Amino acid sequence: MTDIGTGGRWILAGVALLDGNATPRRDGAYLAIRGSTIDEIGDAKDFQAQPGDEILQLPDLLVMPGLIDAHLHLYASGSTEEEPVPDRFGSDLFPLIAVSNLEAHVDAGFTTVRDTGSENGSIWALRYAAQEGMLRSPRIIACGKVLTITAGHGTEYGVDMAWECDDAGDLIKAVRRQQHEGADYIKVIASRRSPDGLGSIAAWPVEELSAAVEEAHARGLKISAHVMGDDAIGTALRAGVDSLEHGWTGNSELWRAAANAGTYLVPTLSVLYQKEAHAAAGRPIWPSAFDSIFGTLDGRLADCGRAHELGVPFALGTDAANPGVLHGDGAIELELLVKAGLTPLEAIAAGTRDAARLCGIGNEIGTLGPGKEADLLIVRGDPSSDISLLRDRRRIVGVVRGGRFLKGEATLRCLSAAPGIPKGDDR
Ligand SMILES: [Zn+2]
Repeated sequence: MTDIGTGGRWILAGVALLDGNATPRRDGAYLAIRGSTIDEIGDAKDFQAQPGDEILQLPDLLVMPGLIDAHLHLYASGSTEEEPVPDRFGSDLFPLIAVSNLEAHVDAGFTTVRDTGSENGSIWALRYAAQEGMLRSPRIIACGKVLTITAGHGTEYGVDMAWECDDAGDLIKAVRRQQHEGADYIKVIASRRSPDGLGSIAAWPVEELSAAVEEAHARGLKISAHVMGDDAIGTALRAGVDSLEHGWTGNSELWRAAANAGTYLVPTLSVLYQKEAHAAAGRPIWPSAFDSIFGTLDGRLADCGRAHELGVPFALGTDAANPGVLHGDGAIELELLVKAGLTPLEAIAAGTRDAARLCGIGNEIGTLGPGKEADLLIVRGDPSSDISLLRDRRRIVGVVRGGRFLKGEATLRCLSAAPGIPKGDDR
């Protein structure tokens, strides 16, 4: 992990740019990094070198903001092949599993991840280690423990990741406790199984959930709601949450309300994609009891298409750690957003600018511009014309976080020194 731009600047020259704002590709540009931030962006023909500049000539590469996965759980891998963690380790292995997951995100071009439910202690330690450069890791935004009803979702994993809250007082207390312990934002599990077992309904009445939202907002914290079922989505919207996590299934009236309020939808389509892909391969990974709650991938893609048409802002989130949803496979979610009706540029914005805004750090990361943190993905090919190329790790040539190379420094130096050498036939 080499610091770049210490003293002088590093220049990525001759590159194409996607700025994260869903604006079309800009060709023949340069991007200058000084310390941890972007110093300048301009046309390569106007570039004026300064003393100490180190210039990488990268005419075949494209630079975009590092990707952001805004919904995942770092304490598990999501692999359906691995043996379960032996009980004797308790939760001691979680941080090590998380480190391996974080590396996978870096290799896939993700420079920020938002953990949506973990143990308080270990997730803060991981966040600190990532921030201090002890790990080859994306930035970590974390809520720590989630707020759920007694015996609600979040209490079933054998992980100490949930406060049980049964009324407004419990919710307010848990918001205060989580902020004190270090949460970057608050996550509530705002839905529960319906009495017939087939669907999902609001976990708390609106006045109770509103108490949590008001308390979080009064303390400068965003609040995200796990919601399944239209009753829960409607209740969460009336309470004023900042994002609908999953948000299955929704309808036009609810999407209009979300669009008006600017409430993000984080549809975690990868869960359904993997559920159906594994079932089709004769290896089902979810009990059939979930079928009626989850519905089908095609159904959710259509819902998301409608939400997008009605102006609901999207943020990319995979829900990695769920069965079959692996860390570092976020490019699949980008493809699914495109299948739902977002353009590739809009899907990229959902995975950069808009996810950064949902994380509360949209002024620091998520787009390219002077003064922004140098969180960059350097890629071979143009994801705005073919989003699926981001699934090919060989095309993820370089990854920079806060001005430090997490991947590809040697490769980029070689490419710059000998830009004419053949680079394989997948160009
Ligand atoms: Zn989740």
